[in-house]
Amino acid sequence: MSKVLIIGAGGVGGVVAHKCAQHPEVFAEICLASRNEAKCQAIAQQLPRAIQTAQVDADDVEALVALIESFQPDVLIHVALPYQDLTIMEACLRTGTPYLDTANYEHPDEAKFEYKEQWAFQDRYAKANLMATLGCGFDPGMTNIYCAWGQKNLFDEIHFVDILDANGGDHGYPFATNFNPEINIREITANGRYWEKGEWIETPPLAEKRVFDFDGIGPKDLYLLYHEELESLSQNIKGLERIRFWMTFSEKYITHLKVLENVGMTAIEPIEFEGKQIIPLQFLKAILPDPASLGPRTKGKTNIGVILDGVKDGKRRKVYIYNICDHEACFREVQSQAISYTTGVPAVTGAMLMLQGIWSGAGVFNVEQLDPDPFMERIGEMGLPWQMVELDPNQDPLA
Ligand code: NDP
Repeated sequence: MSKVLIIGAGGVGGVVAHKCAQHPEVFAEICLASRNEAKCQAIAQQLPRAIQTAQVDADDVEALVALIESFQPDVLIHVALPYQDLTIMEACLRTGTPYLDTANYEHPDEAKFEYKEQWAFQDRYAKANLMATLGCGFDPGMTNIYCAWGQKNLFDEIHFVDILDANGGDHGYPFATNFNPEINIREITANGRYWEKGEWIETPPLAEKRVFDFDGIGPKDLYLLYHEELESLSQNIKGLERIRFWMTFSEKYITHLKVLENVGMTAIEPIEFEGKQIIPLQFLKAILPDPASLGPRTKGKTNIGVILDGVKDGKRRKVYIYNICDHEACFREVQSQAISYTTGVPAVTGAMLMLQGIWSGAGVFNVEQLDPDPFMERIGEMGLPWQMVELDPNQDPLA
């Protein structure tokens, strides 16, 4: 019977709280803490059993330590923002609390994310005989575990990995962003990057485009992007020659974003308007639908998975492992759309394995370094069933 402290009461925090509450046999006591306690209380009201809530500024190590010492959790699930990874890891270290997150550290001022500073905790966590599990959402998270499971059970060596992330959801608006428009714009305007034979190769923004027919969704335009799991998987999959990440964007979505950018609506420098200073992007945010309001009206499915291509017993083999998740079914179950659901469910499953001692170790681990079998056995009943299709090794579905 264990205690879990969840930090962050946004979309993912809501799913994590629901899923922990559904499993009292593992998570006997739950505390949901965030910058704004009212948001924690609103989530607590949706749950089938009572939980504690708390206010905490997760940028403040002392405040975190005080909260952890008063609640004494057996595991901490961090689903606030990537800016808080280092402070929360520090507080867990000081209090001897096992740590799990879903996104790698992002520098608040540099628009750059990487594992370097989290990996730098390795020696201190190992010395303290404490475990930190990094990147246990969907991507990163489930996609890394699909790769690790393939490496352990299907292949002698995996040579090529393609991660395919499709959102076939429709909220009925001509244009709305699923999350912060600034991050959306950055994602679309940044150079693409993939790893091949030990080198990072950059491509111009949205230059690499393919069409892929997704089970449950249909054909979609896919674009090559850089994504954070490439950093750890390129180090942890033995024999790997190339790894790429692809995400779907509709023509309509890209056109809207480009127009908004071209007319200056996404600028972050203040301008003078009718005697007032306004920031165009903040004005844009104010007139776009609130991302949190999209949940109840989003229909359709997500399909996220990996194509693994390698050798087994001297023969080439290619498989596609993926999950399909339905936005409306997620909303019925936990009052959230599939993007938050597919992130929160792996986080809770990982925390469960840590509490049960099935995932254990001293140090900082990316999820593909942990045993994928117990995770793959449980994740279906937790809400994200997976399927595997054998592909023809001589055909390239991304040609
Ligand atoms: P939201 O923006 O909806 O929620 C973030 C929450 O963190 C909010 O409740 C926010 O509080 C709180 N928060 C922000 N700063 C602080 C702080 N200093 N102290 C305490 N609480 C704070 O984000 P999501 O729920 O969509 O995402 C949560 C995490 O999941 C992010 O790290 C994101 O990168 C990650 N993620 C991972 C994915 C994966 O597949 N691996 C996919 C999607 C997300 P307030 O409400 O006051 O702003």
